[in-house]
Amino acid sequence: MTPSQQKNTKRSIVVASNRLPFTYQRTSEGLERRPSVGGLVAALDPVLRKRGGTWVGWPGIEMDADEILPSADEGYSVSPVLLSEAEIQRFYHGFSNRTLWPLMHSMPARAKFESREWEVFKRVNNRFGETLAAESADAGLVWVHDYQLMLAPARVRQELPNTRLAFFLHIPFPPYDIFRLLPWDREILVALLTCDLIGFHVRSYAHNFLDCVQRILGARVRRDEMVVEYGDRTTRVGAFPLGIEYGTFESLALAASRQPETQKETVVLGVDRLDYTKGIPERIHAFERLLERYPEHHENVALLQVAVPSRSQVSEYRELKREIDEQVGRVNGRFATASWSPIRYLYRSITPKRLAALYRDAHVALITPIRDGMNLVAKEFVACQVGDPGVLILSRLAGAADTMREALLVNPYDIEGSADALHRALTMEEEERRSRMTALRRRERRDDVDSWVASFTKAATAARASMVPFTDEDFTGWLGDYMKGYRLALFLDYDGTLTPLREHPSKATLTRSMRATLEALADRPDTDVAIVSGRALDDVRSMVKYRELTYAGNHGLEIEGPDFPGFVHEDLIHYRERSEELLRDLEKIAVDGAWTEAKGPTLTYHYRAVPEKRRSAFIREAHQIISRAGYQPRDAQCAVEARPPIGWDKGRAVLHILRQRYGPSWSEEVRVIYVGDDQTDEDAFRFLAGLSQTFRVGSANTPTAASRRLADVNGVRSLLEWLARRSGSN
Ligand code: UDP
Repeated sequence: MTPSQQKNTKRSIVVASNRLPFTYQRTSEGLERRPSVGGLVAALDPVLRKRGGTWVGWPGIEMDADEILPSADEGYSVSPVLLSEAEIQRFYHGFSNRTLWPLMHSMPARAKFESREWEVFKRVNNRFGETLAAESADAGLVWVHDYQLMLAPARVRQELPNTRLAFFLHIPFPPYDIFRLLPWDREILVALLTCDLIGFHVRSYAHNFLDCVQRILGARVRRDEMVVEYGDRTTRVGAFPLGIEYGTFESLALAASRQPETQKETVVLGVDRLDYTKGIPERIHAFERLLERYPEHHENVALLQVAVPSRSQVSEYRELKREIDEQVGRVNGRFATASWSPIRYLYRSITPKRLAALYRDAHVALITPIRDGMNLVAKEFVACQVGDPGVLILSRLAGAADTMREALLVNPYDIEGSADALHRALTMEEEERRSRMTALRRRERRDDVDSWVASFTKAATAARASMVPFTDEDFTGWLGDYMKGYRLALFLDYDGTLTPLREHPSKATLTRSMRATLEALADRPDTDVAIVSGRALDDVRSMVKYRELTYAGNHGLEIEGPDFPGFVHEDLIHYRERSEELLRDLEKIAVDGAWTEAKGPTLTYHYRAVPEKRRSAFIREAHQIISRAGYQPRDAQCAVEARPPIGWDKGRAVLHILRQRYGPSWSEEVRVIYVGDDQTDEDAFRFLAGLSQTFRVGSANTPTAASRRLADVNGVRSLLEWLARRSGSN
């Protein structure tokens, strides 16, 4: 199958969601198409119909790679992502619906955390990301939807570093204290931050997200502008309350014929996917209390509950269905008369036309989720109120309650309060009903799905937020309390940290201002500065040229400093000769701009000047040569390092310096800050985790164990200037 089967020339938007806008089923006639259920499809289908583009998603069945989807008339391209049965189990029913769904809805007790499912979730998201990237080379916007695909943007970003990339979350984003229960919280936040824009339904979800990136990732958050800076990238975050196809629902309601269910009694309507977030048992309980407390409604009022079958492969959903069945039976058994059943329960999906008629003719819509990202049913009810106005009772815990203020808002856990609201709705004067409904309808007509798409895509394609220079406030917030009253041991990598990387290491010299800042720091009586570099010791010393510093060269295999016994790792002697041999072997692939740097016990193979196309072959070969010689190959910035396998790295070197200088209880004597940009600095970040504040410089694409990120050398200079200016320790 080609990546995209039904091409459309205009490909301005590429959308991805877990499901395609239809589900395919295998019948004796071949593949058959059914529209998918849910708010997401209802929102996006009309957009792509209008604008054209590509929709990437899972077709809903297992397919062979060469099978062709039946062609359709949607007016946009469809690019299927194929999933095996096992992947559907673990990615979809598993991690998406058993882990993320309950957690994001702040129901952590229902969440299962399984690393096997997480692995499949990562794999499937990666596949979505690859398909998206293949479809998006010339797209104006790549727009990824919802919690099942929270990792996919990272893969797109890897392939397409400059493409406009946005994400919208259709469910709540929970508070920090809930989200951090997820063992993979960091990975998800980092992946989302590869986007230019992340949209949520309401501001409180956006703020929860900002809290999480600030507290879990140490990202810099500019709350006034709702911008996150993470490494070298900025991401805007915003609230974009989803609307509905208002006009379509209104027209349906104007045209639909009356349904038998609403012809007799006054109808209280509930419409939901059968989901534990929807509060269906609580709602039935509230209706039962109404009947207990207000007998005047007996034989006059009926609750019509539509429950659309959903996720029946997940056991919680099957249990919920049993619970509701029993509850309906019990309440009906208790109150029914020969001519009246208080609850009518439809466990099935119904057509839009019929739904619109039910919305129109219901006197009250009782929409009481115990947690809901938005809730479109509330909005559809309002759009369909074309006759005698009914009353909307809405849970405060649904995102929709943020804007639908004229509804009767209830706490669904408050059964008495909900029963009172029901009674009030059933007895409300026409004037009040009309005032409330008019205001609700006006807003939903204005803020419909088209306006949602327009405002989201406008924000997603607006100029990127720029980085703002760090201020003293940033550093005081991050380090003020940590440093207060302590001596500082400051460890700095050289290349890429104190100077930008250059064509040749000899050109990477310190700027005058960086040198002045370093010297000011080194001159402070309460600060000890060490440079920890992959360069040979003499080399790094000659680049910095300041006596008062400690220098660790060759990734810490050689160390020297003032008042500090010089150190050379004792095993190095064995490697002197071997490294000469290795140098000769590496010289053989030092062609096409590649060159080798001999640094005594270690060696570096540089390929920065090699044309991109040829690099991977050179890297592979360098790795092989280095391994064959009994050395460890390590990837660095456009270079492969060859290090003797003697279990020593920058982390151990830092620990050695700290112990030598401040004694075994160094962690009580000094505060430690380490700043580095390289893979080899990760050893130090891991070693120092919890014992220091660590900063990784550069692109946010690479994972890091550091506690914070700085975009570039300028960010480092700001940090060092603040440290040089800080008020002194005792
Ligand atoms: N819906 C449907 N089939 C039905 C009943 C309802 O497709 O038989 C639709 C309904 O019109 C609404 C969506 O399902 O658009 C439910 O969206 P909502 O935001 O209320 O909840 P979600 O199911 O997305 O959690």
